[in-house]
Amino acid sequence: MSSVTVRVPAKVNVQLSVGPLREDGYHDLVNVFHAVSIFDDVVARESDSITVAVTGDWADLVPVDDTNLAVQAARALAKHAGVCYGADLVIHKAIPVAGGMAGGSADAAAALVACNELWGLGLPAEDLMRLAADLGSDVPFSLMGGTALGAGRGELLTELPTTGTFHWTFAMADGGLSTPSVYAECDRLRATPSRGFWPEADAGLLAALRDGDPHALGRCLSNDLQPAALSLRPALAVTLEAGRRLGALGAIVSGSGPTCAFLVEDAAHAARLAQALPERAPIRATATAHGPTPGATIL
Ligand code: ATP
Repeated sequence: MSSVTVRVPAKVNVQLSVGPLREDGYHDLVNVFHAVSIFDDVVARESDSITVAVTGDWADLVPVDDTNLAVQAARALAKHAGVCYGADLVIHKAIPVAGGMAGGSADAAAALVACNELWGLGLPAEDLMRLAADLGSDVPFSLMGGTALGAGRGELLTELPTTGTFHWTFAMADGGLSTPSVYAECDRLRATPSRGFWPEADAGLLAALRDGDPHALGRCLSNDLQPAALSLRPALAVTLEAGRRLGALGAIVSGSGPTCAFLVEDAAHAARLAQALPERAPIRATATAHGPTPGATIL
């Protein structure tokens, strides 16, 4: 096999509840992940060493050295399997960078799947999940896809049942937000830094997902990082309000932001919102998508 292509989705958190700061510096989370149809494609070709190149709208923002998460994933896989194979990785990037949609994690998950196949390792999904958890909190979900409840720092996943398809419009901002700085701002804004408070999954939200009810889901969307993202980037409030006024069923900052996610009625509503938003809000681009979609998949 000389080349493998893996498609991997972005995610939006339909619930992101941030609990106490742990001694290891992470927060305990209740994180309901939902995979949506904005995809990066990662191509892996046989090579003597591990390299990466990036194409697409967001390419200039992605490092192409050893700090690239896809390179780290390929190296971790080779080490785990005890092989010294190489791969030239090419990432075709559509997921916004530092946008709160787990783009780097997605590429790491895709690289694990692509190199496992390219190198003929045949490692089972459980091994890839373990490697994924070591690479980052969101990487296991990028492998898994669908809709899932994440506990711990987000990496302990339980698949959630859903019905039908949810439709979304995403508004991408100019410039990213660093996830650690948003968590730090969240701690700063909380009078008592969340000690003793243990988040739980929202029963109404789980029912809305199970029933395929976008109106109920729109009312239940929640993100504890949103006040911190708005504090660091006040213009996001304008974007959220514009989406609400244009009839979104729910409007939320995606993860640590600055991408804003709007849950809508159907694909036509998503397209209308995507067209109208740029005239009313300070955004770089919009995209329509639907979810849930599968995780990292070989094409
Ligand atoms: P999350 O939602 O998981 O918090 P994010 O979507 O906000 O993450 P990413 O797109 O993963 O953020 O990017 C975070 C940083 O990771 C970027 O600023 C970039 O420098 C670095 N990075 C390393 N590898 C990649 C990659 N393959 N794709 C995107 N960013 C990468």
